[in-house]
Amino acid sequence: MADKMTPAQRHYCMSRIGSKNTKPELIVRRFLHAHGLRYRLHVRRLPGTPDIVLSRYKTVILVNGCFWHGHNCSSYKLPHTRTEFWEAKINRNRDRDARKYLQLRTMNWHVIQIWECQLKPKVRQATLHALLRTLNQILLLNYGAKEYAPYRGDAIPVAAEDVSEYGIDANEKEFMH
Ligand SMILES: [Zn+2]
Repeated sequence: MADKMTPAQRHYCMSRIGSKNTKPELIVRRFLHAHGLRYRLHVRRLPGTPDIVLSRYKTVILVNGCFWHGHNCSSYKLPHTRTEFWEAKINRNRDRDARKYLQLRTMNWHVIQIWECQLKPKVRQATLHALLRTLNQILLLNYGAKEYAPYRGDAIPVAAEDVSEYGIDANEKEFMH
């Protein structure tokens, strides 16, 4: 598979490696803010310095670019040239993402991953409202009733697989701030 980026576009993309405040991230931040949700940014004391941290929800939100994080979608296309180099690089990013996710989960943080392609105009509103529902569900899990039905995340495009494995952990409060 080849991509259609011009050299200038490629340069722009590469200049964004590790950059903060990307547009997809800003979309999520504006939405959260508009809904009265307060967060901290790029929290260094957590594994991988997550983009958006909602302490009250014990949740981190990772907004991932589809190319750099190797999302299995149409936005992820390996360049023609130096294909192996890019493949290896993106595989390393994927491995790092997986480790980061596990570390956060071990510390009882909820992890919501949002992909760049989920924030394209056509699907953006659905994604953001699913995010809101997921956050409400998390709040219920963290502070809510003693009994709860494990959340299956039906029809939730955002991080459904993450939510379904939540349990209430007696130690969770230790990590709350
Ligand atoms: Zn994608």
